[in-house]
Amino acid sequence: MARYTGPSCKLCRREGCKLFLKGERCTSGKCAFDHRSTAPGQHGAARKKVGEYGMQLREKQKTRRYYGVLEGQFGRYFEMAEKKEGLTGENLLIILESRLDNVIYRMGMAASRKEARQLVLHGHFTLNGKKVTIPSLLLKAGDVVAVKESSRDSEKIKALIEGLGTQVVPKWLDVNASAASVKVLNMPARDDIDFPFTEQLIVELYSK
Ligand code: SF4
Repeated sequence: MARYTGPSCKLCRREGCKLFLKGERCTSGKCAFDHRSTAPGQHGAARKKVGEYGMQLREKQKTRRYYGVLEGQFGRYFEMAEKKEGLTGENLLIILESRLDNVIYRMGMAASRKEARQLVLHGHFTLNGKKVTIPSLLLKAGDVVAVKESSRDSEKIKALIEGLGTQVVPKWLDVNASAASVKVLNMPARDDIDFPFTEQLIVELYSK
């Protein structure tokens, strides 16, 4: 499975905002962006005028990187979003939010989407009672994700389960800390997504 393996903090500097890709480090005093927020590269600190296309491109890259999705898959999500009723930009964000790795991150079982992806790939979860190893699976209302019974003995998983219920969880998810599970109550609404995306710019980019 293809994935980005370069430095995460460089992506935040490129996008000019914190993308929260490294878990606890992002909210600690060690966040690289808090110390140096200019774009990477020799001319990163130089002021550049960004045109309309540049803004649209940056918004797409920012969104894609925030969710840890590669270019091709992001394009496919956009096509799916276009086919759904309603606003394409909102549909796109809702599709991204409904990915299995994002739901595991949102429920508090992982410090980042990257970690959530690793946990899924290592087979630590079930979806509606069946083992699941595909982080990009799109969940729907009523789906239940749980830590696999045999994984609960692992020290690492035990520590993650102990942390459940201590974080703020979006209202479209219902976490059962004692069962180490989460139920998707309904699909998220745009208001449930708290990151400042300007999704209309992505729609404009793909409409060219
Ligand atoms: Fe971005 Fe800071 Fe997290 Fe690095 S530590 S990924 S710069 S938010």
